[in-house]
Amino acid sequence: MIDGKRLKALWVLGYNFWFHLARSIIPRRKENQAEKFKGYFRKDWISSFRPEEIGLVYNFEKCTVCGLCPEACLPAAVSAGKFLGPEHLAACAGRSQPQYISDLDDFFRCTLCARCEPACPEEVKISEIGWLMRKWIFRVDPSKTWEIFPAVKKNLDQFGNPFGKEQVVLGKGSGKSDRLLFLGCREMVKGEPGKWIGLAEKIGLSAELVSGVCCGGLLDEIGAEGVHPGLEKLLEANPKEVVTVCPHCFYSLRRKLPESVKVKFILEAVPENLAARPGANSVKVIYHDPCFLGRRMGLMDQPRAIISKLGYQLVEFSQNKNLAECCGGGGGLFWYDPEMAERVSRKRVEEAKKMGAEMIVTECGLCLELMQKAAAKDKIEVKRLTELLV
Ligand code: SF4
Ligand code: SF4
Repeated sequence: MIDGKRLKALWVLGYNFWFHLARSIIPRRKENQAEKFKGYFRKDWISSFRPEEIGLVYNFEKCTVCGLCPEACLPAAVSAGKFLGPEHLAACAGRSQPQYISDLDDFFRCTLCARCEPACPEEVKISEIGWLMRKWIFRVDPSKTWEIFPAVKKNLDQFGNPFGKEQVVLGKGSGKSDRLLFLGCREMVKGEPGKWIGLAEKIGLSAELVSGVCCGGLLDEIGAEGVHPGLEKLLEANPKEVVTVCPHCFYSLRRKLPESVKVKFILEAVPENLAARPGANSVKVIYHDPCFLGRRMGLMDQPRAIISKLGYQLVEFSQNKNLAECCGGGGGLFWYDPEMAERVSRKRVEEAKKMGAEMIVTECGLCLELMQKAAAKDKIEVKRLTELLV
């Protein structure tokens, strides 16, 4: 009987013997190893991490390569092998800094949805590690980031907004100037800014619309930290409260504005006493938790309460709230690989249909745009929750 292990060992031994023999015989170009080393670890390729980031850099060491997190990553599942997922991201963090550049394709395919984190028994902060590596790339070579996102850079240079030229809005709302309504860069270009003034009036929110400001939240997500055109202007207005309609701005403003400024999400300004909509009880609505609003900012019950008060039949995805899957809109994936982002949102639409929903409701402009595209040929409607209020 042939012993397989013995055969394999003999084959490896033989292979190594002939390989090393061949290497020693074939003449090779001599390299100056010291110069090569210096070139690889040149000063401008090494960036220091901030003291508060060091713990995160070493957090990857807790990874035991157990293989539990890849199961939680929808983007990896639909990437057709382009993105190897969270386990691989944790492994990338263990490389030397200059190698982060060669891993950037992996870093930028993560949507920063953070769904893999609750799945990790070792509590590895996988999405945070991947995010930090993007920032590292920008710190050592901002041109690399702009090379990957040329349209974002062009729009920033031309309009001070990563999406393009802001729409002109007539009127500023009826509000107090110390409470600002902040729509964010994307909504000012691709959304319907005028409608938000109408919604604020409808729900009794007295606030003044602020334009020409990007909080830099979506730019942070591609690593471009510190780029937030006009944020100083917002601070100069000395507001007491900023109400935002974008989950990414909500996350970013909470971190960037001083504690004295209250940052609220639009759903928190919706009054409690909502009347049921006529005919709503015959419509099955499924709520998609935007990752930055739900998992990152903890706002999960309020939207569901509003849907129920409006009288709709609320159905749920098989995994929701803290375990909700992403729509592909986070982390700048919609800029980096829009087709892959759409494949992720397609999965959400398919599951919503499977759960018997007639309408998908969410409260994020990016989730809305992606899922509306993905559902274009379906009979299922996709709406923002605030659209149901007007
Ligand atoms: S944060 Fe989301 S996209 Fe990124 S690795 Fe984790 S599950 Fe995948
Ligand atoms: S679940 Fe945690 S420990 Fe397991 S492979 Fe993923 S990061 Fe590593």
